[in-house]
Amino acid sequence: MTLNFCSLSSGSSGNCYYIGNEFHGILIDAGISATSIRKFLKGMNISMQTIMGVLISHNHSDHIKGLEVLARKNHLPVFTTRNIWNSILSPGRKIAGDCIREVPVQKKFHLAGFDIEAFPVCHDAPETIGFHICLGSRKITVVTDLGHICSTSAQYIKEANLLVIESNYDEEMLLTGGYPYYLKKRIRSDNGHLGNHQTSGFLAEIINDNISHICLAHLSKNNNTPDKALRTLNETFLSKGIVLNDLQQISVLNRNIPTEMITINFDN
Ligand SMILES: [Zn+2]
Ligand SMILES: [Zn+2]
Repeated sequence: MTLNFCSLSSGSSGNCYYIGNEFHGILIDAGISATSIRKFLKGMNISMQTIMGVLISHNHSDHIKGLEVLARKNHLPVFTTRNIWNSILSPGRKIAGDCIREVPVQKKFHLAGFDIEAFPVCHDAPETIGFHICLGSRKITVVTDLGHICSTSAQYIKEANLLVIESNYDEEMLLTGGYPYYLKKRIRSDNGHLGNHQTSGFLAEIINDNISHICLAHLSKNNNTPDKALRTLNETFLSKGIVLNDLQQISVLNRNIPTEMITINFDN
């Protein structure tokens, strides 16, 4: 079996992730224009016909900017919880009724050959969910917007083979940067975003041999750099005596351009 993952765009300016198997694919979030999504997929030789749906994590614009057009032009079904639908559809955003699919929280549903579970995360939207996506024995967990890691999300994160997790801001850059106080406070709060040290500290606690890929996601444009996010994680692992095995890879997802496809081949 083959499990593919790539990020089309990741960060506070727009998020969209592709997860595929040999036959089909799904998208998580549509926070960039529908045109860019189609263009990026085409560039990777992925046909829109193989995309079976879009999963939506929450209603912030960096996750749904391209959704209306994408759903309308490509007649894609869109999957999220009832609460998130309520927050997306008001005020005035139109998604055709036959594209609307409601998913449960912490209960498996099946799409495009994947078993998928949505789980709650702590973030300052009416409701925010992460996704745990299984193909045979392999699992991907995607959590891009969360202020802290509660025990429920920790459980899904620990089980992942490929983990997409937010490392939003460098603590010093945020504190010394030009954001107004209220915004700094919001970002650092339990319902805001994860900083590099938070993410790294948590990963140092849970890293195990089953985790083959760690993708640091949703980096802030103004308060982080890929180098700082990566260095913080490497230094944290080093300070705790954690040595990765030869198969374990860490990468930082690009903010505006697709990353290379990560492909995991396995027996079942
Ligand atoms: Zn976001
Ligand atoms: Zn958000």
